[in-house]
Amino acid sequence: MTAHNVQRQDQDAIAAMKPVADLASRVEAVAKIAAAEAASVDREARFPTAAIKAARESRLLGLAVPREFGGEALALTDIADACYRLGQACAATGMVFAMHHSAAACVVRHAGASAWHKDLIRRIAEEQLLFASSTTEGQNGGNVRASAAPIEGNGADITLTRAATVISYGAEADVIATTARRADDAPSSDQVLATFVKSDYVLEPLSGWNALGMRGAASAGFMLKACGKREQIVPEPYERIHAQTMQPVSHLLWASVWAGIAADAVARAQGFIRKAARQSGGTLPPGAAHFTKARSTLQTLRGLVASSLARFEAIADDRAALASLDFQTAITLTKVDASELAVATVLSAMRASGLAGYRNDGEFTLGRHLRDILSAPIMINNDRILANVSMSALMSGIPTSLRSE
Ligand SMILES: Cc1cc2nc3c(=O)[nH]c(=O)nc-3n(C[C@H](O)[C@H](O)[C@H](O)COP(=O)(O)OP(=O)(O)OC[C@H]3O[C@@H](n4cnc5c(N)ncnc54)[C@H](O)[C@@H]3O)c2cc1C
Repeated sequence: MTAHNVQRQDQDAIAAMKPVADLASRVEAVAKIAAAEAASVDREARFPTAAIKAARESRLLGLAVPREFGGEALALTDIADACYRLGQACAATGMVFAMHHSAAACVVRHAGASAWHKDLIRRIAEEQLLFASSTTEGQNGGNVRASAAPIEGNGADITLTRAATVISYGAEADVIATTARRADDAPSSDQVLATFVKSDYVLEPLSGWNALGMRGAASAGFMLKACGKREQIVPEPYERIHAQTMQPVSHLLWASVWAGIAADAVARAQGFIRKAARQSGGTLPPGAAHFTKARSTLQTLRGLVASSLARFEAIADDRAALASLDFQTAITLTKVDASELAVATVLSAMRASGLAGYRNDGEFTLGRHLRDILSAPIMINNDRILANVSMSALMSGIPTSLRSE
């Protein structure tokens, strides 16, 4: 290799790294704002207005938009890393950011030739539109692969009236991506994903959001009444969008936020243990073993998220591989395992910190972290997921080498 080639390669590498380095400082600035309002967001169960405003100003909402549409075309791993950092600062901010990117990814990756959606993708980057998603409906719980309300209308104009049990930050969003039954005579599993911008819909309140944790996600229930054009339905069937994008991307980004919450809990516990050791002439407090346990489960959690991200990135454009039984099983189990590990980590951090972690005040308090992280196993209930994948888990082969997936 010539010196010129080496120099050229270095320049290319630096050019490729630059947006990511720039991303880290932009995310850091937003994380500081998110951390400053985290306690009041939680106390008042309010949307993290300042943090999301800062995310918009730092142009973080269009990170995944392709360059041809004015975005930065960043990889999912970069966005997941931002989720991790924001999750450390404020769980609700991290989760809003993760949910926005999951819903936006469905449009970016499945718009196909749709001119309407191409324009919407351009607007995500240009106007920093905030996406919310509506999959939970009526009494259907976390069964996201079935819809009750149909798309109505036979011609170019469509309507949708949907009892949306939970739409996180529905009132603050600019766009709602919602599942729906394809038509009045379609079975519940024949779903589409429709995108409605704010001027297309009204949200009539059905229920508030006074929850144990993730209080700033502002996940109220609404009757969603939307009208629009047929072209606002994403061209591909939801079944494919779900398998190739919605499920893997949301599970990976949620898991990144949970890992961030867990990491901050571990950092607080570390601060407590160090302080206690200093005050007692270097003797570790009795809870120190729980801190070691918290570090260990955090390490496992981070490894799980990183390896699952790498697995997704390797096949991100391979539709058949994404749809394979092995990948689908692995990605749903990643959600289950990541949520359980995150809860275990925060619990260990709390036990390591004793009263200092248990109380709701003071620099080592972990009450908010614990309440926030308990949402992880129920955000698409782990029991439901385990029941759904039990057959595919039984059918997929057990790897015979550490190198195979
Ligand atoms: C913080 C947060 C934000 C959210 N944001 C949104 C949002 O923006 N948009 C949206 O659409 N939804 C959202 N949701 C809803 C979420 O995605 C799930 O749909 C919802 O949490 C499931 O509710 P559920 O527990 O009542 O339902 P279910 O999944 O029906 O679970 C109810 C109970 O039934 C059990 N159960 C269900 N099925 C089985 C089974 N097959 N085997 C064994 N046990 C089973 C579960 O263990 C559980 O105890 C959010 C949820 C949370 C916690």
